[in-house]
Amino acid sequence: MEIEHYVINETHRIQTQQLDVYPRFLFGPGPSNAHPRILQAMSMRMVGHLDPQFLALMDEIQELLRYAWQTDNRFTIPVSGTGSAAMEASLANLIEPGDKILVGVNGYFGNRMVDMAERYGAEVHQLRCPWGEVFSLEEIRQGLEKYRPAILGLVHAETSTGACQPFDGIGDLCRQYDCLLLADTVTSLGGVPLLLDAWKIDVAYSGSQKCLNCPPGIAPLTLGDRALAKLKKRKSKVANWYLDMTMLMNYWGENRTYHHTAPINMNYGLREALRIVAEEGLEARWKRHQTIAQSLWDGLAEMDLACHVAREYRLPSLTTVVIPEGVDDKAVRQRLLKEFNIEIAGGLGELSGKVWRVGLMGFNSRSASVALLLSALKIAIAGAGK
Ligand SMILES: *Cc1c(COP(=O)(O)O)cnc(C)c1O
Repeated sequence: MEIEHYVINETHRIQTQQLDVYPRFLFGPGPSNAHPRILQAMSMRMVGHLDPQFLALMDEIQELLRYAWQTDNRFTIPVSGTGSAAMEASLANLIEPGDKILVGVNGYFGNRMVDMAERYGAEVHQLRCPWGEVFSLEEIRQGLEKYRPAILGLVHAETSTGACQPFDGIGDLCRQYDCLLLADTVTSLGGVPLLLDAWKIDVAYSGSQKCLNCPPGIAPLTLGDRALAKLKKRKSKVANWYLDMTMLMNYWGENRTYHHTAPINMNYGLREALRIVAEEGLEARWKRHQTIAQSLWDGLAEMDLACHVAREYRLPSLTTVVIPEGVDDKAVRQRLLKEFNIEIAGGLGELSGKVWRVGLMGFNSRSASVALLLSALKIAIAGAGK
């Protein structure tokens, strides 16, 4: 082949440095810092997505995920994509056009669920309460009675508000009303008490970059028997090819049929993340997150900083701190980042400008993080009056 006649445009051939990234403490709503063991696992050599070594690893991931979620669901897999991909997978697979879904909206991610459900043709109804509060069992019962939905969607850990939705009794109610219970557990898996089967949750999804400390790009999903039964009865095809679990089932199940190329190294990372969870044990892990969060809350109180969520419903993995009157939200966050390499986040939606969001997730949940964060915050606030 002759190559001398090609005319190459050199405009975009820019000179760049080899990648180097400043280290940060990721104390916001996610991503959290990746555990070094996970990064190490991710740099392991590649194999093919049908290699017997990889197939064995897929089985291990599924089993470790069942442990982390406390479920016996056979269909428990990681979706290729971030938490939102697993959220979309749950809705795309369970909703058939015209299905009624009731979504609890008490924060940003409830709204996202509504948006996605509408795109798949559901008749969407909303239960609403102020951001930072949670739904009572009675409010949920009234919603089920009024709308008789096929699916109830709730966010267990609302990362936008710092509130933890209690699940006591909801699973039983959903069975009574012949409704599937779907839970967003993105910011609870691996950090906050979560017992999928005991709570009778039919569908749940999560993410890798919150309490699991894995980089973003892979997202757990599980479907229980009642959810699988609805999926099998579908009259229409799942309206999303990439996330169609009826096809992915054949790759993650016994047949191992190619659907799309699994992101091999993301799976290495998730496996290591779940190994770390299993090594520590769920109960120890939940207790650690709770104890460390309590010391953060005590320290904030000593600085006269209030938490936005009532103590009873406060998430240990994500705290919303009320920005004091006269303090410049952005100036504080910028100073934390520039001077201390600490990332926290501002509020979303109706909490924008009102709260800071502080996440101590996975191995970031330790006393050294609390000490560092509180001292840096003290300095940043002192210098950031409006
Ligand atoms: C982060 C998050 C998501 C979305 O996950 P992505 O990985 O950003 O796509 C969904 N729900 C909740 C509660 C979250 O915190």
